Amino acid sequence: MALPPDLHMHTPLCRHATGEPVDYARRAIELGFTEIGFSDHSPMRRDDFDDWRMRFDQLGEYVDKVRRAQRDFPQLTIRLALEVDYLPGHEEWIRELASLHPWDYLIGSVHYVSDSWAVDNPYKLSEWKNRDVMEVWSAYFERLTMAAETGLFEIIGHADLPKKFGHRPTRDCTPLYETFLNAAKKHACALDVNTAGLRKDCKEIYPSRQILELAFQKGIPITFGSDAHEPEEVGMNFNEAVELARSVGYRQSVRFASRKAQSVEL
Ligand SMILES: [Zn+2]
Ligand SMILES: [Zn+2]
Repeated sequence: MALPPDLHMHTPLCRHATGEPVDYARRAIELGFTEIGFSDHSPMRRDDFDDWRMRFDQLGEYVDKVRRAQRDFPQLTIRLALEVDYLPGHEEWIRELASLHPWDYLIGSVHYVSDSWAVDNPYKLSEWKNRDVMEVWSAYFERLTMAAETGLFEIIGHADLPKKFGHRPTRDCTPLYETFLNAAKKHACALDVNTAGLRKDCKEIYPSRQILELAFQKGIPITFGSDAHEPEEVGMNFNEAVELARSVGYRQSVRFASRKAQSVEL
């Protein structure tokens, strides 16, 4: 079975990943990939917003690192992308970022449910104690829906991230998923089938089978991502991810070049 492209991976510029793009590319070739994409955490307008992303003045360096990997490994298709944090009010900034380099795609991700709390931040785990789990899931999916509605993203990242540490919704979230997926469908966003969840407390791929089933029914495309933060994580658990997608009914995934989708047989 040919491996679908791994379109979600990071670089040390985000300050919580190790290994250069050339190391990720080498690993991808070892594993038999024909295509990967770098999607490191994009800068915010204010560099002091948080400490787990590249600074704005490093954006050119990021592009250079990816270009170097493209030159060193011509046998591997390497896409240039970003994982962009969506927060309400940041749309203008995201448009500006989008115009600065010829990105192949932008992954829109929600990590922040308020200006100061990213639900997946292990250093802010105690914040969950102050919050109602269901209220967090609702706020999260409300923002994810807004992210899809902007039409700024080709892919929506790890769609049920709040489960990372095992905080599961206490009520049926189907209406939240439906609203989000209808927005994704309307704006032709693909869902990132992201294996990083298997390496976290939730021990489950993002998004859940339920979300993927709803997405399949609506005809929403998917991509695959390891969310690698070190070269050894490239393509991790891809067989499991492809198996999940196929069991839901998917026979194709998508890849992106110059922000245009192309289909990939699974
Ligand atoms: Zn990260
Ligand atoms: Zn992310």
